[in-house]
Amino acid sequence: MAMKALDIYKNLPKTNCKKCGYPTCLAFAMKLAVGKAEIEACPDLDPETKTLLGGVTRPPVRLVQVGAGERSVAIGEEFVLFRHEKTFYHPPGIMVQVSDAWPEDKVRSAVEVVRDTVVHRVGQDLVLTGVAVKNESNRPDRFAETVALAGGGSSLPLVLIADDPASFEAALAISGHYRPLIHAATGDNWQALAALAKRYGCPLAVRASGPAELAALAGKCADAGAPDLVLDPAPRSLRDFIAAATEIRRAAVGRTEPALGYPLYLDAGSFGEIDTALAAGILKYAGIIVTPPLSPASREAALTLRQNIYTDPQKPIQVTPGIYPINEPGPSAPVLLTVNFSLTYFTLLSYLDASRIPCYLFVADTEGLSVLTAVAGGKLTETLVADSLKKFGVVDQVDHRRLVIPGYAAPLSGKIEDATGWKVLVGPRDAADLPGYLEKEWKA
Ligand code: SF4
Repeated sequence: MAMKALDIYKNLPKTNCKKCGYPTCLAFAMKLAVGKAEIEACPDLDPETKTLLGGVTRPPVRLVQVGAGERSVAIGEEFVLFRHEKTFYHPPGIMVQVSDAWPEDKVRSAVEVVRDTVVHRVGQDLVLTGVAVKNESNRPDRFAETVALAGGGSSLPLVLIADDPASFEAALAISGHYRPLIHAATGDNWQALAALAKRYGCPLAVRASGPAELAALAGKCADAGAPDLVLDPAPRSLRDFIAAATEIRRAAVGRTEPALGYPLYLDAGSFGEIDTALAAGILKYAGIIVTPPLSPASREAALTLRQNIYTDPQKPIQVTPGIYPINEPGPSAPVLLTVNFSLTYFTLLSYLDASRIPCYLFVADTEGLSVLTAVAGGKLTETLVADSLKKFGVVDQVDHRRLVIPGYAAPLSGKIEDATGWKVLVGPRDAADLPGYLEKEWKA
């Protein structure tokens, strides 16, 4: 079980010597408790205490990096079973699978899609992660050529999928220094693959049926010098994957089986319904998801879901508060109050852009809360609106004093009028109705 900060503190020297970089032993204990410090930073612990505290303060799911450079992906380092307990930190890598039995053009175009796909959503650019190259030709030279065609790992992270060590040898000679994920060590080949992973410093996927077998094989590979592991529970169905993934994550978070404290691997292409498999992997703890090439709709759905699940529920995505001109507004254009919750802002923006109505979006700082939550939680107030009108220089932009507020902020309309001296018009609740409302109600 994870230790609480005070229990950790009881085991520290309590001298507040600051050698760990923290002002007090308690401050260090608090960082250790949330996995944000390493026990080795305190030089005054005896080996026994170091082992005890190291075991209970390291992230229960190890951080593993696949790939090198700008587009490399870090997976794992998770602390909880359920997102609402804290947050999930490292989104799974979505790796599009190509085969070395495909013609070159087909491989090239699949890789191009991975490299060039960008979905813009709530101010973020969402991208696919990398390419998984599968050895179906049974020829090491052909496998290596296809790995080279996929960029060799220099631009996109790779997963190398094969059975025989000779194929991996050939592919790693090209891509080894870019940290591809080697898939997969099994009961038959683990010694050779663990040795390759150690030699090239690459992460290694371990494949065995069921958590107990996986823990045993992972332990052997780690002992053989391959510390960065990814676990593939070799599921027979999606249901099987969800059950195994849940059991493994529970064992990792509860620290009952350290050999299961690694990110998980899912081959989403093995189960027929690809969108469902992708969703299951994103929701249920996969660190690496390998998928066949996806339609644009499936790509967008998977990237959107991944963004939603891996957004910290306590820190909504926000835009910078301020006054934003839309469709080149003049001084008589309406001023529309909204909040800095990114989803609200970008939803409004898309409707207003499409309507071609010139206006100003006046974005108040509600710390990323939506209108309804900000009103209920006292974050959107008449004082905030009055102060923000001054701070953002809204009076200098327009020659009128009328403010359209969101329908959900209607209870504040009188107070905002009193605090600002502006006439308040209560707009619709739904962003989709705003263009129609402005056409009907706004008289310049
Ligand atoms: S180095 Fe150790 S003893 Fe010194 S303040 Fe940090 S935790 Fe306390």
